[in-house]
Amino acid sequence: VPPFRVCVIGSGNWGTTIAKVVSENTTLRPQLFHEQVKMWVFEEKINGENLTHIINTKHQNVKYLPNITLPDNLVADPDLIDTVHDADIIIFNIPHQFLPRLITQMKGHIKPRARAISCLKGFHIDKVKGVCLMSSYVTDNLHIACGALSGANLAPEVAKEKWSETTVAYRIPSDFQGEGKDVDHAVLKALFHRPYFHVNVVEDVAGVSVAGALKNVVALGCGFVKGLGWGDNASSAIQRVGLGEIIKFGKLYFPDSEVETYYGESAGVADLITTCAGGRNVRVASYMAKTGKSAEESEKELLNGQSAQGIITCKEVHEWLEHDGKIDEFPLFEAVYQIVYGGKNMRDLPKMIEDLEGID
Ligand code: NAD
Ligand code: 13P
Repeated sequence: VPPFRVCVIGSGNWGTTIAKVVSENTTLRPQLFHEQVKMWVFEEKINGENLTHIINTKHQNVKYLPNITLPDNLVADPDLIDTVHDADIIIFNIPHQFLPRLITQMKGHIKPRARAISCLKGFHIDKVKGVCLMSSYVTDNLHIACGALSGANLAPEVAKEKWSETTVAYRIPSDFQGEGKDVDHAVLKALFHRPYFHVNVVEDVAGVSVAGALKNVVALGCGFVKGLGWGDNASSAIQRVGLGEIIKFGKLYFPDSEVETYYGESAGVADLITTCAGGRNVRVASYMAKTGKSAEESEKELLNGQSAQGIITCKEVHEWLEHDGKIDEFPLFEAVYQIVYGGKNMRDLPKMIEDLEGID
């Protein structure tokens, strides 16, 4: 029931940006939201000072989003339980490998009817259940409804308030009883929409999440060919093949996901294009091509503590496709995995994704 209390779990490049976006809206809409937004920070020292203290006094995340002023009503909190215990809307925004540990800590400490939105890009692989969305992982473990936010959103551009679009996907649960209003599509639009950040709310959580996770794997492929100096034609070829594999994977494992989402939403082809043009995954892969260094080393040297999720996602996808006997049906995803983890030569990428049927 409004006013809803909002918190953000995560304070990296995108976590801090989304926290800024929602804090601006909670100030503008006191009937719908409590003004203060807590942002959980994985505490670290910057020149001997706690990052939370720097954020709360200088109103800047000097490590992960430097030179961007954050609203005063955004409060950094190093205590996870203190951040989430009274929240009605929990926004998850961390590199997805850290989610399981945080969820374990949160169990029993959240409001039973809290709602969540996942801004994470990646999967959880369960050898029994198969490939799980991050939102499903939240729902299965915390027993709360969870949607997804994803789009063509390079964080540094959104933080500078350069116009972009995004997609929020949410299915309203039927378990709400009592007076007042549950979190619905209008509430989510009011929370995330800004003049510089245009939100479309849909129901296709799976389509939005699958597209967001897999475009990072395709972006690594684009980074390889860019780093090799092969140009825009090669990058477009990778994106074309990648889009096909994204939709095929989505329809195979999440049959309810909509082809319209992959093509027509910001979370679909638009995010693929943006990420393949200037995202961190492209930069890391390009650096690998130029230096011969591993993905891990490149990420460490280039990103100052930020991460390129495609490195983990291509492994998750490989593990699942191998388990399911479907590796051959996704040659680009497999080629990216083999280049990152199997020592395969990235110059062979065209051969690895080529359809040689009918050629002797
Ligand atoms: P990031 O890449 O900036 O990651 C750094 C964050 O991870 C920091 O807040 C750091 O404190 C935290 N961290 C490090 N070790 C940790 C640990 N052991 N436990 C918990 N946290 C730890 O993160 P980001 O850019 O905010 O990305 C979050 C999610 O949003 C990812 O899934 C990413 O793919 C997605 N995303 C990012 C962007 C972007 O442009 N940055 C845009 C859209 C979506
Ligand atoms: P990178 O993590 O490759 O920078 O992509 C960011 C993103 O997800 C843009 O929507």
